[in-house]
Amino acid sequence: MEETYFRRGFGLKAEVKGIVEAEYASALVERIRARGYQETFGDVAVRLAQEFGFCYGVDRAVDYAYETVHKFPDRTIYLVGEIIHNPHVNKRMTEMGIRFIYPASGGVFDFSHVTASDVVILPAFGVTLQDFQRLRAIGCILVDTTCGSVLTVWKRVDEYARDGFTALIHGKYQHEESRATASQVGKHPGGKYVIVRDMDEAMLVCDFVADRPGHRSRDELIEHFREKASPGFDPDRDLQRIGVANQTTMLANESLAIGARVRAAMVERWGEEHAASHFRSFGTICSATQERQDAVLEMMKEPPDLMIVIGGYNSSNTNHLAHMCRQYTATYHVEDAACIDVDTGAIRHKPELAANAPERVDHDWLPARPFSLGLTAGASTPNNKIGEALLRVLKIRGVNVEEPAAL
Ligand code: SF4
Repeated sequence: MEETYFRRGFGLKAEVKGIVEAEYASALVERIRARGYQETFGDVAVRLAQEFGFCYGVDRAVDYAYETVHKFPDRTIYLVGEIIHNPHVNKRMTEMGIRFIYPASGGVFDFSHVTASDVVILPAFGVTLQDFQRLRAIGCILVDTTCGSVLTVWKRVDEYARDGFTALIHGKYQHEESRATASQVGKHPGGKYVIVRDMDEAMLVCDFVADRPGHRSRDELIEHFREKASPGFDPDRDLQRIGVANQTTMLANESLAIGARVRAAMVERWGEEHAASHFRSFGTICSATQERQDAVLEMMKEPPDLMIVIGGYNSSNTNHLAHMCRQYTATYHVEDAACIDVDTGAIRHKPELAANAPERVDHDWLPARPFSLGLTAGASTPNNKIGEALLRVLKIRGVNVEEPAAL
């Protein structure tokens, strides 16, 4: 019988290595890295964060997609959503003939055109339990690139639901990963979840749990979390036992703080001696996200004059990196190197944290005097885009640097 589920690669890494490197690596970035993450070009002192760009999960997903095209040259290959949140990488996937299946409003995917002879790639942030089951039922070949760190979160949420705890997930309820994570409670009858975006939303839950004066009523909470909690969510019943988890790319400190506040609310309500039977927590920020956030904080001990953060506007971890930098220095979050216009000298960027915040175009954004420029990129940004962004800035500055020929 033909094997139809793959999640450990096809052993074709060597075959695709050359093409992946040619498309996503940057010799300039590697040179700066080798020189201690800094190099001066003309009057621009460039500093790279010590951790940036493609994480292990994205590396694996991209490799796996290329291997899939290599392995199944004659089949129709689909991708559920985006393999990662990077427009350049997704464009390359399209050029390779991979067809994207985007969700309709409400996040529902239409798989009606997928047949048993097709190949479907699942993205690094995974798909919901329901979508996975629908695709298995079709009988198509599934290439599952779900990151191991995401699977760890799923395991925790699964255990919470199994043990009668409601999973409180710090994440964005519309993000694919949070939706997929939340869906894991469906493995157990009566499994429940609620997704909180930030501390303010977590405090609505905490105040209710601790029965604090002025807390929202049961009905108000049901209404508030209508789209962000499992069907039939009942705060009276479902907030008695809570297990905290998070989308892997959230701000680590905020996730930790939310866990601590939920625990404090449980202690207030049930007493310290009963805390363990009402509260569980497991830090599920992935190490790649953590390392990129730590590297930015390290750089901000001596902030550069300006900072460019490169990555998709809908990339959670990129948005958080940019948000952190903004607290310290002038920061430009660009979706792609092409946002830096060499002809006009302008930069198009997203100046706020929200994924859907409007872009802004700035013209005189480079200091007239010599300046330091910090660079980092989200976990879904390939190095060639970092190198290209730098070359564009230097070109505007009148500093001519050729990208080194090879790695
Ligand atoms: S950001 Fe973390 S969880 Fe997401 S793909 Fe990368 S390593 Fe995996």
